[in-house]
Amino acid sequence: MKGRAGKVYFVGAGPGDPKLITVKGAELLAQADVIIYDRLVNLELLNYGKKEAHRIYCGKTPNYPSISQEEINEIIVEHALEGKAVVRLKGGDPTVFGRVGEEASFCLEHGISYEIVPGITSGIAAPTYAGIPLTHREFSSSFAVVTGQKRKDHDPKGDEIRWEGLAKAVDTLVFYMGVKNLPYIRENLLLHGRDQNTPVALVRWGTYDHQETLVGKLHNIVELVEARNFQSPAIIVVGEVVSLREKLAWFEEEGNQEILLKEAMTS
Ligand code: SAH
Repeated sequence: MKGRAGKVYFVGAGPGDPKLITVKGAELLAQADVIIYDRLVNLELLNYGKKEAHRIYCGKTPNYPSISQEEINEIIVEHALEGKAVVRLKGGDPTVFGRVGEEASFCLEHGISYEIVPGITSGIAAPTYAGIPLTHREFSSSFAVVTGQKRKDHDPKGDEIRWEGLAKAVDTLVFYMGVKNLPYIRENLLLHGRDQNTPVALVRWGTYDHQETLVGKLHNIVELVEARNFQSPAIIVVGEVVSLREKLAWFEEEGNQEILLKEAMTS
């Protein structure tokens, strides 16, 4: 039976800390009939949904055969066509390396209306929680978000990242999905003129209680990552602003853990 088509809400879940979702996003979650969520969404957010809401995991695990984008598109549309209010919950912000363009186009093709609710992207939130502001009057007047992934279907002779501009003209570079390709990122930045003493930070599981940060320089960061076996998911920040962490770090500091503990004991 086909009744009135439902609606799809693409909602940014924020970077991890479940309180970093927007009020709008949380309200939509609370009203959803179906919640379709990704791998990097904090599972605690699913508790914001109705008990009877249908929760569907659509995560793609790197290097494992998993659900395809086409299948995800189908699942979203199938439920909307049943008249359901569908929340498509995406890590961080839906428009930043989130494939929302493809999913929204598929909805359009099937006559399904949608809304896109922004979220706090991990590329801003993880550095913030590590005490690294992406801009600073003395150190940086621009930042760029960049993919650290090489496309499998891409012609190896070409490279869609325009390294020369990034290396020379942008003060702070923020790489997503880049841990595995860090040697390639470093090589390209050095090759295109970035100073080898530029500070670099990796922030993994940003805004989660178990957030970890590793700091080095462009010339030694690959070795540090290997020595520490520092794994994804992580954001890589390249630029002078990284040096501010020494002064501004707050979240991973012991004091903060103490405050959290006190809060947990009194609530
Ligand atoms: N739409 C998401 C990004 C999806 S791409 C956003 O706006 O944040 C997936 C990549 O995001 C990961 O490989 C990692 O680089 C980054 N990422 C997502 N969550 C993260 C977190 N909590 N801490 C550090 N990096 C994270």
